[in-house]
Amino acid sequence: MGVTIVHARAVMDATPERSQTRLDTFVDRYAARTAGMTASEIRALFAVASRPEVVSLAGGMPNISGLPLDVVGGAISDLIANQGPIAMQYGSGQGVPELREQITDVMRLEGIEAHPDDVVVTVGSQQAVDLVTRIFCDPGDVVLCEAPSYVGALGVFKAYQADVVHVEMDAEGLVPAALQQAITAVQASGRRIKFLYTIPNFHNPAGVTLAAHRRAEILDICRREGVLVLEDNPYGLLGFDREPMRALRADEADGVIYLGSFSKTFAPGFRVGWALAPHPVREKLVLAQESATLCPPQFSQMAISAYLSNHDWQGQIKQFREMYRERRDAMIGALDDLMPAGCTWNVPDGGFYVWLNLPAGIDAKAMLPRAVTARVAYVPGTAFFADGFGSRAMRLSFCYPTPERIREGVRRLAGVLEAEMELRATFGAAAPDRPLQAYQGYDGPGTDLS
Ligand code: PMP
Repeated sequence: MGVTIVHARAVMDATPERSQTRLDTFVDRYAARTAGMTASEIRALFAVASRPEVVSLAGGMPNISGLPLDVVGGAISDLIANQGPIAMQYGSGQGVPELREQITDVMRLEGIEAHPDDVVVTVGSQQAVDLVTRIFCDPGDVVLCEAPSYVGALGVFKAYQADVVHVEMDAEGLVPAALQQAITAVQASGRRIKFLYTIPNFHNPAGVTLAAHRRAEILDICRREGVLVLEDNPYGLLGFDREPMRALRADEADGVIYLGSFSKTFAPGFRVGWALAPHPVREKLVLAQESATLCPPQFSQMAISAYLSNHDWQGQIKQFREMYRERRDAMIGALDDLMPAGCTWNVPDGGFYVWLNLPAGIDAKAMLPRAVTARVAYVPGTAFFADGFGSRAMRLSFCYPTPERIREGVRRLAGVLEAEMELRATFGAAAPDRPLQAYQGYDGPGTDLS
């Protein structure tokens, strides 16, 4: 396996005693479940990717440059002036009631009729994935996930020692027949499926959206087989060309836990997301939330609540959609113009991501050091699979760089790919790989694998 960040830093440390302490003293005391908590071997490389000369098509950072900072600043200073002692105090483990009410208005845009009592506010939807997994999964339990799936969720499932079974997707999202097949196979093996984790809209990383006609079919299968659905939907309101799709939760209240987030429609720094869960599950989630954080941040919740009350948040989302559409167009235009033959990609109609398939013989992870040398970064497809698949694919994010930088990034990537194809054509699998360790001397401000 690759070198973890702990090793990398230890090697860089000037004092050997310190690195000894870090490497040796606790290593045999960690809980068994921490074996799944390993830094990706590409993480060191992403420190380099955040250097300004590199065009990063890797991170999924929302582009919040369009947010009206004066409005947000005004809302926050009013909050301090008028409700400071409440905003800076502990609050309810379930979340601020007024915000939970507003969250039901947000979800209504996707056809969901919900009661605020069934909403649990979380520290980003990432924490909701964690809490749901915490209350459902014992080691060895199976979680069904799309192939590929969100790297941050895979990390949670691994940390709780759940086994991920990937289910095929195509251009219309999760394939119902493949889902049925996977359920039957897991059941036949005697293992327990705890839930299906799915990102139906503008998928991270695949960029596809679950077709309307498949939604009912997938709900039918899950209902029949007794499989709970975890619907993760941070991008649902960021469609470019049409109204939001109807959520799975809109048609199935008892068998779906729905996750939402303000990270992409407002700003991730507040760290506010939520889970909408069937009543008994909601109670367990609140207990889990209390043990994890006592309560989600009161200040952030009240700031978001004030923003939603006093600002045209739907107009703001419309602006975000236009900005991301422009960036999507820049990326697709550049791919059409510049990519060598043999590469294929999808055209997402919302969200942040394009999934690029490479010609046979090209390994996206092996190529990454060469790409970073050429000052462009992406996330290799293998990051989005729990089982080592995905080496011939990569995720490209168009959310953050300007359209000009996106085009420049794709131009650099196309150059690297052409060189790589030539190298493989000459040397085959024996072509020399540049070791990732070569980059560990850099220590940028960190990375965003989201
Ligand atoms: N789910 C998906 C599919 C995501 O892409 C992300 C972040 N990129 C999250 C959950 C977590 O987002 P947050 O915690 O900021 O709400």
